[in-house]
Amino acid sequence: MKIDFNKNQDGLVPAIIQDATTKNVLMLGYMNEEAFGVTQETKKVTFFSRSKQRLWTKGEESGNFLILVDFKVDCDNDSLLIKVKPQGPTCHTGSDTCWNETNESSFGFLSELEGIIASRKSNIANDESYVASLFRKGINKIAQKVGEEAVETVIEAKDDNDDLFLYESADLLFHYLILLQAKGFSLKDIEAELRTRKK
Ligand code: AMP
Ligand code: ZN
Ligand code: ZN
Ligand code: ZN
Repeated sequence: MKIDFNKNQDGLVPAIIQDATTKNVLMLGYMNEEAFGVTQETKKVTFFSRSKQRLWTKGEESGNFLILVDFKVDCDNDSLLIKVKPQGPTCHTGSDTCWNETNESSFGFLSELEGIIASRKSNIANDESYVASLFRKGINKIAQKVGEEAVETVIEAKDDNDDLFLYESADLLFHYLILLQAKGFSLKDIEAELRTRKK
């Protein structure tokens, strides 16, 4: 798969820099063929800087290198997706990304659900809400609920009814997310703990 460095006459292709783990977009730069070669050889993302008009290894002054993990060429060979491990904040402003975002993990729909649970927790008087009613009852009750759902999940795991197993698993995960928040934690804390165990 050949990169089309001359589609734009200037010999440059845009390179989208993505955190290999969190999948957040960190910055956008431009590479010519030489910059791309240096990036592959050194594993340190190197651009052709249009303002400096020279090769620029991101991090050369700050030490905040972007370590190459993987790359992909797009459908028509004229842009790069570069997957990296950042060694510090990517933007020269000190922000994690050039769009002033924090480079945190996101768990997709589960993060959305955490947001909904958080809003119920902040409006605990909401009588309509099952989640708010659980928060009113307190941690012991929520923990007990997690225990019940865990037992139901175990029971269904021993049967061969997949639908019931998935149903109880969803109940368990949902109540577990509520317990995490009741204790003041979130999935990010669990991720951090699990990462410390990664060999
Ligand atoms: P660094 O490559 O991190 O040592 O930064 C060297 C210089 O490159 C900085 O002083 C900025 O002028 C510029 N620079 C660093 N990071 C970025 C970035 N993410 N986007 C644009 N320019 C940058
Ligand atoms: Zn393209
Ligand atoms: Zn920036
Ligand atoms: Zn259940």
